[in-house]
This record gives sequence, C-alpha cells and structure tokens, in this order.
Amino acid sequence: MRNPKYITSVDRIENLSENERNKLREVTERFAFRSNEYYLSLIDWDDPEDPIRKIIIPDTRELEDWGELDASHEKNYTVAPGIQHKYMQTALFLAVDVCGSFCRFCFRKRLFMNDVDEIAKDYSAGIKYIQNHPEITNVLITGGDPLILATPRLEALIAQIRKIDHVQIIRIGSKMLAFNPYRILNDPALPDMIRRYSSPEKRIYIMAHFNHPREITPQAIEALDLLRDAGAIIVNQTPLLRGINSDPQVLAELFRKLSFIGVPPYYVFQCRPTLGNRLFEMPVEEAYEIFEKAKTGCSGLAKRARFVMSHASGKIEVVGKTEGSTFFKYHQAADPLDMGRFMVFRSNPDAYWFDDYTEQIDDYRVSGDEDEDIPVFPSGGYIRDDSSATG
Ligand code: SF4
Repeated sequence: MRNPKYITSVDRIENLSENERNKLREVTERFAFRSNEYYLSLIDWDDPEDPIRKIIIPDTRELEDWGELDASHEKNYTVAPGIQHKYMQTALFLAVDVCGSFCRFCFRKRLFMNDVDEIAKDYSAGIKYIQNHPEITNVLITGGDPLILATPRLEALIAQIRKIDHVQIIRIGSKMLAFNPYRILNDPALPDMIRRYSSPEKRIYIMAHFNHPREITPQAIEALDLLRDAGAIIVNQTPLLRGINSDPQVLAELFRKLSFIGVPPYYVFQCRPTLGNRLFEMPVEEAYEIFEKAKTGCSGLAKRARFVMSHASGKIEVVGKTEGSTFFKYHQAADPLDMGRFMVFRSNPDAYWFDDYTEQIDDYRVSGDEDEDIPVFPSGGYIRDDSSATG
C-alpha cells in the first residue's frame, strides 16, 4: 500500500454525520485532531462504542473542565530546551510535536497547542547537557512521535547521541506501529539506520504503544519484524483507558497477543488526570483490579507489565490492595532516596491519582536517610544535582 494520507480536520471524515462534525469542530479548536487513512480504516463505524474510534475521534466530553494540562509536572524537569531529566539514568528528548494520529487521552496534548514551546527545535543544547551528565545511560527520544521525522533527520539526532560514550540505550517512544505501520514498511532507510546504531552492546529500544489488540494488524506485525530484524528491541506500554482496554478480557487479549508476537508488556499506566481526559479515567483501585484480573488469563511472558502512576515524584507502582489498604512502591523516583520506598495508605475507592491518597498507614524506605551514601555507578558516578530540576 502507498503511504496513507494524513487528515487534520474532522470535516474530512465521511463516516461522521454533518451534525457530529459540527459538534466535534468545537472540541478540535481546543484539542487538535489528526489521523490518517490507515488508522481510520480500522474503525468499526457501525459501533458507536468502537475502541479504535475512541482512541482518535474527538468527543464533546473532552470539553469538561477536569484535570491539568501537565498532570505529571513534566515542565519542572526541563533542564534545556526539549530535554527533561527526572530519573538519574534517563534523559528525555522531546524531538517533535506531531504524531501519526493524536490520541484523545494524550498526556502531552499541551505540545499540540499553539502557544506551547517545549520541543527541541535545535538539538545542540540537549546534546551538550547529556554529554555533561555521565550518569545518563538511557536517552528516550519522544515527543510527539519521533518516527514522524524523516529518517535522515532522526538519524542526525541518533548519531549525535551515539557519539556520547556513557549513553548505552537509545529509546524511541512511538505509536507508529499502531497508527501507521506503512511509515516503517515503505521506508527501507529506517531499518537500515536502526541497524547502524543498534549494536549488540548498545541497543535501540522501540517503546511501542498498542492500546487495544485490534491495533496489532498483519501490517503492524510485519513492520515490527523489520525493526526487530534490524536489531531493535521492542516493548509495549499503554495507559488503562475506560471504554478502550478497561475490560479485563480485552486487556488480557492485548497482553497475550503482545507476548505471541514477542513484545513484552512493559508498563500499564494509570491514565494521568490530564485536562479533557475525564471520559477515559478510572479510579486507581478499580484500574488495579482490572489489571490483576487481566493477568489471570495470561502466561508469565504476557504479564510482565507493572501497573504504575507517572507521578510528578516518580513512577509509583500499585502493588496490591486489601479491604482497607492500598500498597504502593516507587519503581522510579526523582529523588533517589525514594527509590524502592514502600507506602501503605487507607483505601480510597474515589482516588484517581496518588495525591488523592491522604491517610498514610505505613512507610518504609530502603535507601535509609538523607545522610546515607547514594550508590556510585560505573558510568561516572552519580552526583546529587538538585539544579537539574527547574521546579
Ligand atoms: S502517540 Fe503518544 S504523544 Fe502522540 S498523541 Fe498518542 S499519547 Fe500523545
């Protein structure tokens, strides 16, 4: 198939009625719309509850005033134009502000708004920052979707990162396998480029983003194989989304299908309380139960994901619950002293985010207290540098 055409106006979606288009135009004035012929063709237009439709077709409920534009306070970790540094080993490169379609639940929808300027237009300041921080072993190129960039432009960035000795892993966060596998199938230069920069010692990871098993089409699998044959390691992450993958059977099918095609489910995220996302949200404890129920029908390989909240302070895993309590653990933490910290809170069935848990019952830090030494890493040592976060 030729490259599918991109569509940026709901007026061009013939399957929507005139009336629907009129209503949705108001939504897209606030939160941008974008999709393409391939992804739109996956929608079952006879089903108003179709999950693929919910992923990209706007909904008037997005106008409900709920949530924050930057729910994880990412801006506070911006250290240079387009660069976030929150976790010691990992830097984020916001390389582009466009995607293969726009997910209605996107937690970075602010990037698609006109007055927001968090993207690196010029990569040099970000590269310099990474060069000066030997503790950074992972660089995640994200956005937006880096695979929207033409391959030579992406290669220019990857080549500069690869020259930095202490960076071992380069990750590319991309939903293109789901949104437009033809971006990969029709561009042999892309796997060729991956082959040049993903070596046995220093891999490129593709952080894929399949939300629903129906996105795993024959074309997506073929594209995935091209990237894997070129030496990329592919894992998947998805938020848990009401009406899209909130049925335990659907989530189980996603996990199972991913394991069948050799893609480990890596993270399942509690949907961030982002502005306009009320319709996709579920309380934390309900989401946790769906996650656990989904895993019951899966082999060990299909249930490797952790259920986490990308909170401003770190990745907080929901590890369990009883009748009265909910148990959390920092899987990643902005403050190294929080790493592995275990916390017990009084249950709150109405909580949508970690901040909604207010009654703490127990707290245990494995990292000891402030005076304890923080481990030194062979890549050059970690220096606690509070200036790396601007907020
Ligand atoms: S692909 Fe990622 S960045 Fe792009 S709209 Fe979806 S969630 Fe947002």
